[in-house]
Amino acid sequence: MNSSQLKITVTGLTDKGLVREDNEDGFLVDYKTDESPRVIAVADGMGGHEGGEVASALALEVISSWCERLEQRGSDSLSEAVLDANRVVWSKAKEDDALDRMGTTLTVGFIDDSHVHLAQVGDSRAYLLRGGTLQQLTVDQTLVQQLVDSGEITQQEAIRHPQRSFLTQSVGTEPDLSVDRISIELLAGDRLVLSSDGLHGYVDNDTIRQALQDNPDSKRACKALVDAANNAGGHDNVTVLILDASGDGGGEPGGGAVASQDATPILVSKPELGARPKKRSRALIGVGAAVVLAGILWGGMFLLKQATTAHVVTTQKGRVVILLGSPGTDERAPQGEVVERSNLELASLPETFQRELRAGITARSLEEARSFIDSLRNEVPQRLEPSPPPPPPAEVPGPIDATPPPSGTPAP
Ligand code: CA
Repeated sequence: MNSSQLKITVTGLTDKGLVREDNEDGFLVDYKTDESPRVIAVADGMGGHEGGEVASALALEVISSWCERLEQRGSDSLSEAVLDANRVVWSKAKEDDALDRMGTTLTVGFIDDSHVHLAQVGDSRAYLLRGGTLQQLTVDQTLVQQLVDSGEITQQEAIRHPQRSFLTQSVGTEPDLSVDRISIELLAGDRLVLSSDGLHGYVDNDTIRQALQDNPDSKRACKALVDAANNAGGHDNVTVLILDASGDGGGEPGGGAVASQDATPILVSKPELGARPKKRSRALIGVGAAVVLAGILWGGMFLLKQATTAHVVTTQKGRVVILLGSPGTDERAPQGEVVERSNLELASLPETFQRELRAGITARSLEEARSFIDSLRNEVPQRLEPSPPPPPPAEVPGPIDATPPPSGTPAP
C-alpha cells in the first residue's frame, strides 16, 4: 500500500493502577502541522521520592523538543534524541540529591510516511498486531532477557520471573548508553502498541492480542488493556499507546486484511545482546534494585545514597546482614553496627545482587530491611542458587537470627 493511502491515528491512556499513589509513567504524541502523528513515546520512570515522575516527564520533554528536528533530519537522529534525553535526566539527577539515581525507560516511535522507526531503552515495549498475530518488536533491556539470550531460562520462565523488572539500561542513570533501533513498514490494518511494563508484566500476550482484536475502536482498546492490567491486581502504573494504520477503505485494525503478510521488523542496528559493558553495571543495578524493590516487593522502599543513619542490607563474612549505619560508596563499604545477621549466603545469590549488596541497599526501616532479605531468599530463582538453603532448623525461630536492635534506635 502506498504511504499516501495510509491514515494513521494514535490514542493513548495512562493509569496509576490500584496500588501506587503516583503515576511515574508518561507518554507523548506529537503531531505534524497537517495533524498526522509524528512522534510517539512511552516512558516509565523510577527512583525514590519524586524521581520517577521527574525522570519520565523530563525524558519526554526532551523528545518533544526533538520532533521538529527529527522530521527535518530523518530517523538517523532518533538515537541522538534519546542520548540527549539521557544527558538531560542524568545531569538533573546529579544536581539534585533528592533525584539521585532516578531514571526512566524510553520507547520512542518516529513516524516517517509509512515507516515507524523505534528507539528503545529499558523494558517498555512496542508490539505489532498484524493479520491477527501479535509480535513484540522491541527487546527488553533486562537481566531476565539476558538470561533468556544466554539460554539460562526460557522465554516462558521469564514471564513470571521475580527479577523481570531488573533493568540493564535506563535513561538517566549513566552518562552514556546504547540505543536499540528497529524500523518497520506499516501496512493498512496494522496496529502498533507502545506500553509500559505495568501492562506486559501482568497481562499475557494472548490477552493483549484479544483485547486489541475485540476493540477496533482504539479508545476502547486502550481502556480494555488498562482494565486488564488493573484486573490482574493493578500493582503498577500502566500506559498504553495505540497507533492504527488504516487504508482508504478503512479496514479492521489488526484484522485479517493482511493475514498473509509477515510482520518482519527491519533491524536498523542490531539490539546489543548478552553482557553489556561492565562500567554500566553499578548504577544500573542500583536502579534495577530500586525497581525490584518498589515494583515487586513492597512499593515503599527506595535507595538512599546520602542517608545519614539507616538500616542497610549488606554483607559480612559471606552472609547477608543488616547494619545500622551509612550505605557505602564506590570507594568504601557500608559502615555501621550489625543489628541482624541472616543465614543467607551471599554466594548463593546472583552476581548482580552480590555486587549491589556489597555496596549496601538502604531501607527506611528494620522491617523493610528484613522483608528485603526474605524476598531475596524466596524470590531468587532456584537455578541461580547452587544449593537452596534448607528450611531453618526447629531451634531457629525464623530465617533471621533476630538480635534486637539497640534501644533508642532513631527511625530513619
Ligand atoms: Ca512500571
